[in-house]
Amino acid sequence: MSDQAWIDAIPAVDGHLHPPQRLPRPTDRDAFLRLFTESDAPAQLPHVAHTLYFQQALHALGALHGCPPEIDALLAARRALSTEELLARSVGEANVRALLVDDGYRHADSYTLNELRAAVPADCQVWGVLRLETLVEQLAAQHADFGAFEEAFTDALHDLRARGYVALKSIAAYRCGLALGPPDRSAAAAHWPRLHALARAGPLRLVEKPVIEWCLWRAAAVARVQGLPLQLHTGFGDRDLDLLQANPLLLRPALESGALRGVPVVLLHTYPYVREAGYLASLYPEVYVDLSLAVPLVGPAAARVVSEALELAPASKVLHGSDAAGLAESVWLAARAMRGALRAAVEAWVRAGALTAGQAEHVAARVLGRNAAALYDLTLPG
Ligand SMILES: [Zn+2]
Repeated sequence: MSDQAWIDAIPAVDGHLHPPQRLPRPTDRDAFLRLFTESDAPAQLPHVAHTLYFQQALHALGALHGCPPEIDALLAARRALSTEELLARSVGEANVRALLVDDGYRHADSYTLNELRAAVPADCQVWGVLRLETLVEQLAAQHADFGAFEEAFTDALHDLRARGYVALKSIAAYRCGLALGPPDRSAAAAHWPRLHALARAGPLRLVEKPVIEWCLWRAAAVARVQGLPLQLHTGFGDRDLDLLQANPLLLRPALESGALRGVPVVLLHTYPYVREAGYLASLYPEVYVDLSLAVPLVGPAAARVVSEALELAPASKVLHGSDAAGLAESVWLAARAMRGALRAAVEAWVRAGALTAGQAEHVAARVLGRNAAALYDLTLPG
């Protein structure tokens, strides 16, 4: 375990990311810095260059693209490559064998799953994750009657795996918070005429809690029958999110109600509630902890965050992901950061005599990819 090679050789699964968008490549310093922050405030940009994440990423990306670790050099190196080439380099160099892609975020401007399949190396699979709120927003314009919407919603969730989807996802944390109650059909139906009218008038942003609850529990029933996990955004995100409402501990009534029994629930991101998420994963058999976005965004603190997740969560329930969106290289940055963090954490435990080298390697292999392969029922090539 004395060098990096053992952990670089372990294949990874990126359990949560978004497709790159068809946007012009950033050509200036500010546009590039925007790819490294969740903030949309221009006045924040001068500070972004001083995050430890960015400083670490600058050097890493210089090494990936074979150029000096400077913004202008990186802009030039990236200009020479298409988005597909950037993604292919990122996935290949990261030894990532499967990408689980939420294609419901700004979907009209994004690469499709098939385009991603064509772009990435042949030994990497691309699977979809269906975002429920986007589906509801799309169907709302088409169905004036709530009963007709219910039917269309259920139809849209049929036979998902055969259609390339291995999980469902909800961003309820963003829209109404995670204190989710039981489904109330009449309360949901009462909102429908207004939602339909809003959707007819322009893009709808679904925030009505009874509708989100109704759809989420209907989707959970579908997930149970089809054997698919449900991913839930928890923890930090952009300014649109009320972080207090994204604490996974708010899910306790839903978990206790039994509505999610038999449905694996993947708590995405979780930061800063990593310990809370680990606690839930230690109690509820359904609950898994995903560290996408937290790693790499916490920079050199990644080893501590990974250790916190593993304090209580069994190593069979902690998952890797990148939450890549605007920056195709995030797939590589996240895998690199996760390997570095896992290596630092498990080697320290081996040195302390807490784990054998064999046990430590199993923990790393599980978190990097083996857990995701089992959870999402992926047969990885090679
Ligand atoms: Zn995401």
